[in-house]
Amino acid sequence: MKMNIKIENLLINRNSTIREIMRVINANRIGVSILVEKESNKFISMVTDGDIRRALLKGFGLNSCIDEVPRVGNATTVQSDTPLSDVMQLFSDKIRVIPILDNKYRVIDLHLSDNRRRIAVAQPFFDDKEIDLVNECIVSGWVSSNGKFVEKFEEMVARHTGTKYAVSCNSGTSALHLILMAHGIGAGDEVIIPSLTFAATANAVTYTGAKPIFVDSDIETWNIDVSKIEIAITKNTKAIIPVHLYGHPADMDPINKIAKEFDLIVIEDAAEAQGASYKNRMVGSLSDAATFSFFGNKIITTGEGGMVVTNNLEIAEKCRLLRNHGMTKDKRYWHEVVGYNYRLTNIQAAIGVAQMGKIDLIIQKKLSVAKEYNNLLKGVEWITLPPNKSFANSVYWLYTIIINEDKAGFDVNTLMKVFKKNKIDSRIVFYPLHTLPIYKTNEEFPVSEKLHKMGISLPSAPDMDKKDIKEITDIIISQGGL
Ligand SMILES: *Cc1c(COP(=O)(O)O)cnc(C)c1O
Repeated sequence: MKMNIKIENLLINRNSTIREIMRVINANRIGVSILVEKESNKFISMVTDGDIRRALLKGFGLNSCIDEVPRVGNATTVQSDTPLSDVMQLFSDKIRVIPILDNKYRVIDLHLSDNRRRIAVAQPFFDDKEIDLVNECIVSGWVSSNGKFVEKFEEMVARHTGTKYAVSCNSGTSALHLILMAHGIGAGDEVIIPSLTFAATANAVTYTGAKPIFVDSDIETWNIDVSKIEIAITKNTKAIIPVHLYGHPADMDPINKIAKEFDLIVIEDAAEAQGASYKNRMVGSLSDAATFSFFGNKIITTGEGGMVVTNNLEIAEKCRLLRNHGMTKDKRYWHEVVGYNYRLTNIQAAIGVAQMGKIDLIIQKKLSVAKEYNNLLKGVEWITLPPNKSFANSVYWLYTIIINEDKAGFDVNTLMKVFKKNKIDSRIVFYPLHTLPIYKTNEEFPVSEKLHKMGISLPSAPDMDKKDIKEITDIIISQGGL
């Protein structure tokens, strides 16, 4: 960031005392002074408040001259025509102010590194409530998985989702693993999932010994292409896991219809879509069971964490058993099955309770971020906005667009580089799993491949500044004019 500062007010010379320099530094909010030669004003070095602090600690007094202090200050400089991208490279933990020199080595302006300017793709939305409840755990000593917040958090998620039961666990991935095991899915079984999802969906299937079977995406919802499910079904198929990608619900009615016809279980991977709805019913309540994730970038977070939701008591109980070492509920140290330690801690649940108290506010804020992007990007002919089907209320987990590179004249990688230079975070769309070495198949799923190649997720934190959204969309749109 270039500043327009009155440089005269920052100048000091070799004869300036530490006291004088402290006055100069104190009078400006940047925390720096500029050491120059007396007559010519030729630049020598920057002297910061940190330099003065170190000089005092070394034993120099307020009346010492700066010239007596050895190796003080920093002399990294640029010229007025140095490109901003080069300037950015020079900033570091030590160098936060870089003077701009004219051809007589006089300082004409300053570049300031502004670390606040980094715009993140996602950010947790916290207030005092999280701090208070975590504090309560510490003070009371209930820090592991016993404690009142675990059940309270489960109740709150169940109520918000509209399911009877919720079983918390330590990640969205373990939630998927638990619910698959609870349904008895294992070796020899096949589970149908979209190729375009976060790898955890397939990994959890693999943990059980079952095989993930991939299906291409639908270009309108970016979710599993319902018309391609039936041909993927074999005699070994046991379940379908639709993923509500980027917060937009999959078309659940036809999926449930196919499942019924072929006697399959349906599990929603709702990790990215907590609070979204499908035909006015909450995501997570639309099938046999569903899973949420509370990783730091999800709709709500507990740091790490996950949840299974279902209306089936027997299945919920199986998940509880497997989550807690397979230990029988009313007989301590009696293990019926080989279980896992997938428990959520009371501390994490405390954060979850605080987060659930404001989930609707968080979603409302995410919707207004999406609305702002939509308004600024609609009508750009080479941009496809995120899915928004009439049957769905998306929560726009990450606001993701498609850049139609042929018409735009640039691609997602180019755009990401420009964002990076401007300290704006962004994400590619997941690699379709059938293209990863660990899950490679010879199939071609052109829609998922296209979404991966042309999709980009933009910063979507709930309390994003409108100015930042405008800056981001201006950058995107101006790329198209080049
Ligand atoms: C985040 C995510 C998961 C996994 O959640 P973790 O809590 O990170 O284990 C699973 N599926 C999808 C679609 C996700 O986005």
